[in-house]
Amino acid sequence: MSRTTPALLSGFLLLAVSTAAQTNPANWKTPSAEQVNAIYPEVESLYLDLHRTPELAMHEQQTAAKLAERMRALGYEVTTGVGGTGIVAVLKNGKGPTVLLRTDMDALPIEEATGLPYASHVVVKSDSGTSIPVMHACGHDIHMSSWIGTAKLMATNRDRWQGTLILIGQPAEETGEGAPAMIKDGLLTRFPKPDFALAIHDSANQPVGQVGFVPGYAFAAADSVDITIYGRGGHGGRPQSTIDPVVIAARTVLALQTIVSRETNPLDPVVITVGTIHGGTKNSIIPDEVKLQLTVRTYKPEVEKRVLASIERVAKGEAMAGNAPKEPLVKVTHAANAMYNDPELTRRLVATLRGVLGQGNVVEIEPTMVFEDFAEFNLAGIPSADFLVGAVEPGKFAAAQQSGAPLPQLHSSTWAPDYAPTIKEAITVETTELLELLKH
Ligand SMILES: [Zn+2]
Ligand SMILES: [Zn+2]
Repeated sequence: MSRTTPALLSGFLLLAVSTAAQTNPANWKTPSAEQVNAIYPEVESLYLDLHRTPELAMHEQQTAAKLAERMRALGYEVTTGVGGTGIVAVLKNGKGPTVLLRTDMDALPIEEATGLPYASHVVVKSDSGTSIPVMHACGHDIHMSSWIGTAKLMATNRDRWQGTLILIGQPAEETGEGAPAMIKDGLLTRFPKPDFALAIHDSANQPVGQVGFVPGYAFAAADSVDITIYGRGGHGGRPQSTIDPVVIAARTVLALQTIVSRETNPLDPVVITVGTIHGGTKNSIIPDEVKLQLTVRTYKPEVEKRVLASIERVAKGEAMAGNAPKEPLVKVTHAANAMYNDPELTRRLVATLRGVLGQGNVVEIEPTMVFEDFAEFNLAGIPSADFLVGAVEPGKFAAAQQSGAPLPQLHSSTWAPDYAPTIKEAITVETTELLELLKH
């Protein structure tokens, strides 16, 4: 998909639209390309700065300070330290609905390998003294810069909308802690309660210029499960006098997969991944215990509950079959709830976005089993919608489609969004959505 043609075309169309908008502000559905281009240079310098200086989840102090300073300068009423490093920026503009727009702020423990001139070289020390490289490998720097651009356009065009804007900078999306922490710290009670909540995420599977949406469940619920399987260690040459937890663990890993293939309705998506398996020290020693670490992904709460119970049952059953000296320890940590896009709100925004971006550029996409703590807003009773903004350079996207070669994905050390047009597109998507929900 070419970016040049629609951009040129929309230039002509937007000229006509902006003339009409001057006479009737209610017709102003989106900022013009000229307006976006005019604010872009400062947005770009913020993007490059944020990309070079990423911070890990719940350590976004400098990042939050940079955003808070800019929001204050734009006239927003800014509160910092909400749910950790979270910031809440409120702009009241007369009677009307209250709409929340969220950006996430955290980066990932990944060593950047893009080779770009603005690549991150940040390395931090963990509490135990280990060096951890840090990279914005999920595009949260794209989200933050677009969010600032949107904040500016909304603040400088107050005559075009009415209501209350709540722009939040949220910590720790990657760990799923940020949104619950902000809500727990009074996000929905200390500030005007939102009627709608919006977010965007950059997409490594769509070309720039394409916006994706999923009505209903879009991202999965996630649980981490830690299993310790006990045996009785001894000499590797004398297995008859031991109970080998490695063999019990091997059987457990395979048996867990039957929960998905044999116990679950094939129309209910479930993932059980055993991500780590640790036990033993030497070839000739049978260890006392083996540890497994799993991630479990589901959509429906009832499926999640049943799958977690099955995991415990299988682990205990295999331990019993292997004559383990005691029951395995099964520890479940709930990481995130499933994210549900309010279908009515999604349809309303899709219709508006299609009117601005073109029918074929706003497409329904498939749900995935990654998680996103933006789920918390819909669960709190606020109709929510998270749209995906294509971030792959269209030429590269077309070449990959043709060759079948995989594209670098989010959370990869080589993820490099085609940032300039992606940020401009994201600003257009966000302002269009806000103007639709806050129109006169
Ligand atoms: Zn991520
Ligand atoms: Zn992300």
